[in-house]
Amino acid sequence: MKKLIKGIIDFRRNCIADYREKFSNLAYQQTPDALLVACCDSRVVPNTFASSDPGDLFVLRNIGNLIPTYNATSVDSSVAATIEFALTNLQVADIIICGHSDCGAMQTLIKNHTTNLKNDSYIDNWLEQAESSYTRFKNNACQCDTAITPCNCLSQINVIQQLDNLKTYPSVTEYLHSNKIRLHGWWFDLEKAEVFYYNPTKKKFILIDEDEAEIILASLN
Ligand SMILES: [Zn+2]
Repeated sequence: MKKLIKGIIDFRRNCIADYREKFSNLAYQQTPDALLVACCDSRVVPNTFASSDPGDLFVLRNIGNLIPTYNATSVDSSVAATIEFALTNLQVADIIICGHSDCGAMQTLIKNHTTNLKNDSYIDNWLEQAESSYTRFKNNACQCDTAITPCNCLSQINVIQQLDNLKTYPSVTEYLHSNKIRLHGWWFDLEKAEVFYYNPTKKKFILIDEDEAEIILASLN
């Protein structure tokens, strides 16, 4: 906590002048480019690895970057409300699901299945939303790099599954059909601080280096 308080003072002393105009422009409205769904993990820093500014990203974070499957009678209202606000109020053009390496949620999911020791905890209850990801993982429904760990393979499959789960929301399918939004899967490698994106044609995650970024940028036009 001390680091945070000192950080506020450091921001006041060294950065506030640079940000003052930006924040004053943002004070009355936000027009973010994208809704980004990320894990709560403190090491996942989208504003840093995507060099984004205040106002660029509308962010939803939860354990395991999960989108519970839409169900008209029992939907997770926090997730549904965030999606609704992003689409109807902010009119974001893109939704990104961002997973990451060495994800504690994915490690717990594997441990619960291999030890059969699922706890009656909020965490394990929440992770039931990732069961479909685990099923895909056990069915080898991936084309992961063979050097990747099982946990990281599950984490990548989980991103693909959450993209599918997004499409169960009527508003998302409606916006997709009218070409108002695009869906993207990202995966952050903590150790190397590199970002990968899911290429649905090649059915694999590909490093976003300068060459690949050119290809992605061209596809967004
Ligand atoms: Zn995580």
